[in-house]
Amino acid sequence: MAYDRNNVFARILRGELPCIKVYEDPATLAFLDIMPQSDGHTLVLPKEPAVTLLDLSPEAASACILTTKRVAAAVRRAVGAPGLLISQFNGEAAGQTVPHVHFHIIPRFPGLKLKAHAREKGDSDRLEQIAARIMGELDAQRG
Ligand code: 5GP
Repeated sequence: MAYDRNNVFARILRGELPCIKVYEDPATLAFLDIMPQSDGHTLVLPKEPAVTLLDLSPEAASACILTTKRVAAAVRRAVGAPGLLISQFNGEAAGQTVPHVHFHIIPRFPGLKLKAHAREKGDSDRLEQIAARIMGELDAQRG
């Protein structure tokens, strides 16, 4: 599948659309999912344009995994989650709705069901508060 330069994540990467960013480096960007399935649901994506993981260069794939690992640790502490679901969809048939490869970091809590995928917008104040906590944890990791 050809890469659509105007998909929503491409536009976020170009700064044409806003996002609640928690982490950025030269190869990757991480921001909160606007329709979180649980508190702290975060997306990690490469800056390299690629629809699926299979289209991604080895270097960008490595960068994504390293960022996912780093951000996941901060998300877990920020929301006090005992478990994390890390998922990644390739192609519409697999449930991918945005055609720019990305990893989901989804905190899991015992007895708490996940909200539906890409269905309901989160409260923006709550998202901002959670993002601030995640960034605090990332700062603490660096320090
Ligand atoms: P996919 O189905 O492609 O694996 O996941 C796409 C994710 O992107 C969904 O969880 C959806 O809630 C999220 N999403 C869709 N549009 C936007 C947006 O404009 N901003 C943010 N932050 N997340 C989005």
